[in-house]
Amino acid sequence: MKCLICNTNYQGNECPNCKFPYIAFPGDAEEGIRRMKPQLDAYRRAFLERINLGVVSFFWKEQEGRLVLDREEVRPIGSGKELCAGTVWLKQPFARLPEAETLAIRLALTVDGETRELSVSLPNRLEPELQQLGAEMNEQMQLRLLLRNRSGSSASEWIPLFT
Ligand SMILES: [Zn+2]
Repeated sequence: MKCLICNTNYQGNECPNCKFPYIAFPGDAEEGIRRMKPQLDAYRRAFLERINLGVVSFFWKEQEGRLVLDREEVRPIGSGKELCAGTVWLKQPFARLPEAETLAIRLALTVDGETRELSVSLPNRLEPELQQLGAEMNEQMQLRLLLRNRSGSSASEWIPLFT
């Protein structure tokens, strides 16, 4: 069955991601869901505050005239609530990434302190300019990434956060 809050497919008494209980509707399930909408919306809003998204960032340093990877670190992007309210743009600009057609961005998704990674690919921008990464979420708990510079912007597909 599919969770009414986060769309996870699961078996059991509650959703493993958002912990919303399984609810059986006698008769017309659609009517039951419609009646429960205020409670579902309230639970969804609270769950969005339990979600945090970050981007895995790489920091380089110069060593004997060459750039070497110093460390990787998760930079926070925002909570699910912030991402649902509109596009959140990271303040720190990204150096232009390699000249590939698509970029694979690694994200860290944290729910109640537990983190897992997901990879999102989006069309690269090839202009030699600094660029900014942004993210947004929709009501179906899907996420997309955006990349923008002075010349324009590109966006990934909508990716479900939970499946
Ligand atoms: Zn759920």
